[in-house]
Amino acid sequence: MLKLFNSLTRTLEEFVPIEPGKVRMYCCGPTVYNFQHIGNFRTFVFEDILLRTLKYNGFDVKYIMNITDVGHLTSDEDTGEDKVEKSAKEQGRSVWDVTKFYTEVFLRDVELLNITPPEMYTKATEYMNEQIAMVKCLEDRGFTYRTSDGIYFDTAKFPDYPKLARLDIEGMKEGARIEFSEEKRSITDFALWKFSPKDEKRQMEWDSPWGVGFPGWHIECSAMSTALLGNHFDIHCGGIDHLPVHHTNELAQSEACTGEKYVNYWLHGEFLNMGDEKMAKSTGNFITLQTLIDKGYSPMDYRYFLLMAHYRKKLKFSFEALDSAKSGYRNLLSKINTLRKPKQDSASDKQVYEEMKSKFLNAVNEDMNMPVAMSVLWEAVRNEKLSAEDRLKLAFDFDRVLGLRLDQALPEQVESAPDEVVRMADERLEAKRAKDFARADKLRQEIKDLGFEVLDSKDGYTLRKSD
Ligand code: AMP
Ligand code: ZN
Repeated sequence: MLKLFNSLTRTLEEFVPIEPGKVRMYCCGPTVYNFQHIGNFRTFVFEDILLRTLKYNGFDVKYIMNITDVGHLTSDEDTGEDKVEKSAKEQGRSVWDVTKFYTEVFLRDVELLNITPPEMYTKATEYMNEQIAMVKCLEDRGFTYRTSDGIYFDTAKFPDYPKLARLDIEGMKEGARIEFSEEKRSITDFALWKFSPKDEKRQMEWDSPWGVGFPGWHIECSAMSTALLGNHFDIHCGGIDHLPVHHTNELAQSEACTGEKYVNYWLHGEFLNMGDEKMAKSTGNFITLQTLIDKGYSPMDYRYFLLMAHYRKKLKFSFEALDSAKSGYRNLLSKINTLRKPKQDSASDKQVYEEMKSKFLNAVNEDMNMPVAMSVLWEAVRNEKLSAEDRLKLAFDFDRVLGLRLDQALPEQVESAPDEVVRMADERLEAKRAKDFARADKLRQEIKDLGFEVLDSKDGYTLRKSD
């Protein structure tokens, strides 16, 4: 039985899909005005583990992720500039170039981290009709009002508004430190459609029944998720910061428009922190995956680091902790290597084999308890009551959830190659995966200069001492 912690009920619940055997899931994707940092990727890896867990349990999953390429303002209170337009201005590039560039880097990092892509990435700019139709639906049902800068959702008309985040709206009003436009009827009201400023031409703007403008940030997820997954679907996820504003607003506008329950299970991943603060694009206090690669870590070292913590616990980033994940991961690979070529194999205790399998499944199904799942993996590969063949079989089976590319484990020769050469060969493999062939060739030559030959295999590589 799969149990997931549902933010809506604040309890661990048995997962029961709407349609037997099938799951419809939507996760909020990146805002592409800057690089995604390794904190963002903590959330994307958690969502990947969830997807893999569902598949491991035999569900057929329809999974959508959006790409926010318009309308995310610099403040949650619907004031400030559009982050994409602001970034384009600062860089002297068009908004389309900026979003294309950061989307490509995001997709490359997704691949490097072995994150399973969704069935579809939906871009906000490609679903404008659906967004406008949803705002119209809310207007027809009497949930909107107009101010001088846009069309707003009237949260007072939707009594369930605080239910997801358990907001204390009275308390928020009294303690309001956040300034909000005087035209807004309530502190929690939010923009559905914003008018283009009269004195400025935006690069991205669209005609609408209310005039030229652009969508509020929240409407894209409601419009795209319901268009592709239906009015009522199973799972919606994102980082914990989405709970009080973005997801609360999404729920309100979706249920107000359709009159149906929107989502059964809401799941949220905790932050990756730098010191005591969350890693954040807005403060510039962040590290990208490329920085880790440049420092000699492989994306799988980082994935291993993430799997050592439960997704609902805050995780502090440090290079010391990443170093220990790196050596853990490398030890695991070398253990896998020795299992591939056992000196002599022994018989296996089939009962122990089944026990290992069910221990792993129990850990994964207990709200994705990856630290326990990882310890079961280690127990399995070291278990002397199992043959090398069975230990490998277990490792590869568990890797369907963990996604650590264990079946592409480094070859035996790696152990005799210096760390530096292995690091370069890893980097070359990543460059190849990212289709940066010039860099891959350059690294091959550098490896050669150090006395090693790198041979490509189906999914990885082998290192051999040059003759
Ligand atoms: P954004 O591109 O800002 O919309 O963020 C993409 C995803 O990363 C969202 O699900 C956020 O909730 C999540 N996120 C943002 N900062 C962090 C962080 N420091 N740690 C973990 N997840 C984060
Ligand atoms: Zn969203």
